Amino acid sequence: MPISVLIPPVHVASSPIPLTDLTLLHRSLQPQLEAALQTAMMQGDFVLGGALLDFEIAFAHACGSEYGVGVGSGTDAITLGLRACGIGAGDEVLLPANTFVATLIGVLQSGATPVLVDCDSETALIDLVAAEKAITPRTRAIIPVHLYGQMVSPRQLLDLSGTYDLLIFEDAAQAHLAEREGYRAGSVGMAAAFSFYPSKNLGALGDGGMVVTKEAQIAERLRSLRNYGAPHKNYHTEFGVNSRLDTLQAAVLNIKLPHLPHWNRDRLRIAQRYDELLAPLHLAGVLPMANVSSSGHAYHLYVVRITEDCPLERATLQAALESRRIGTGIHYPVPCHLQPAFRYLGYHLGDFPHTERLSQQVLSLPIYPGMTDAQIQRVVGAIDTAVSAPFSLSR
Ligand SMILES: *Cc1c(COP(=O)(O)O)cnc(C)c1O
Repeated sequence: MPISVLIPPVHVASSPIPLTDLTLLHRSLQPQLEAALQTAMMQGDFVLGGALLDFEIAFAHACGSEYGVGVGSGTDAITLGLRACGIGAGDEVLLPANTFVATLIGVLQSGATPVLVDCDSETALIDLVAAEKAITPRTRAIIPVHLYGQMVSPRQLLDLSGTYDLLIFEDAAQAHLAEREGYRAGSVGMAAAFSFYPSKNLGALGDGGMVVTKEAQIAERLRSLRNYGAPHKNYHTEFGVNSRLDTLQAAVLNIKLPHLPHWNRDRLRIAQRYDELLAPLHLAGVLPMANVSSSGHAYHLYVVRITEDCPLERATLQAALESRRIGTGIHYPVPCHLQPAFRYLGYHLGDFPHTERLSQQVLSLPIYPGMTDAQIQRVVGAIDTAVSAPFSLSR
């Protein structure tokens, strides 16, 4: 027998496993994507073109909503979405401290006053009990961030909103088609922001975002706000911006959208496999974030906590995985309220203990549609090896 049959090729065992891999999906759709781009190019309607109108309707309906308004990014979707809902200067908006900074930036750009709230340490989602305590007579809205692909409880949100007359504006940038308690992300609040940043569950070939809403008036106002504040050409009724989702990007997203349900199902398969394989490592301080929405979790990220029970520092484990060419991430290493840019908001270390602890503990493992079972096993095997033999790794 030739020796090459006995020894597996090295590149199979040690090929890199990135945190996310976009090329797999694009390779499988390459002919359709190229055809869609060609068509868009030859039609020439690059701004506010036909493919955008198609995608706005298709995506809004997929979210269980009515209207979609495509904008330049998820951040702009938050800023303009809040403005279109009538939120601005003088209004307090509740949002989690445990989120990507873009949520906070969106609120600040709308002119409203952000009021940060701590998170639940099991799910990493906004703590609605803490949110209730932060309500003042000026609180107008709450932004639940459906973090990592898991929705904040719609029932509890609607209760809170009903009791205190709060507007719900969802940050669903990580939760395309996520579900919980019979609701779909984007269908709970007055409006919701989505991002099509390339690595999101539904990603463009560049930046993009959308606001979805069931309210015709909010959609109307957004169409003006994103287009220089002009409801009709050359007639400007308010201070608007230039922030549209490109027709080219919408053409790409139209091709990808029908695949999103099975991509999300694949993410769920990978997450469930991680859950199963990591169970024996809970005692060693490797603890997956809680899934309280079963198959409705869209698993934008698969996040574990490296707790005090782990014999390894998170950074050491990350380095051990890196040496085996396994990519990881930290979402997020520095909470919003401790970022130098936002020091002026007056928050301090110690204000949000759960968020701060998570920022020290969380680790995102590779997850992307098409990831193989052998790759999942390799990731867990590498974690197992590292935490079981911490002293052999001392560096
Ligand atoms: C990605 C993201 C955003 C911002 O979206 P961009 O398209 O990058 O501007 C906002 N909020 C959350 C939670 C995100 O993950």
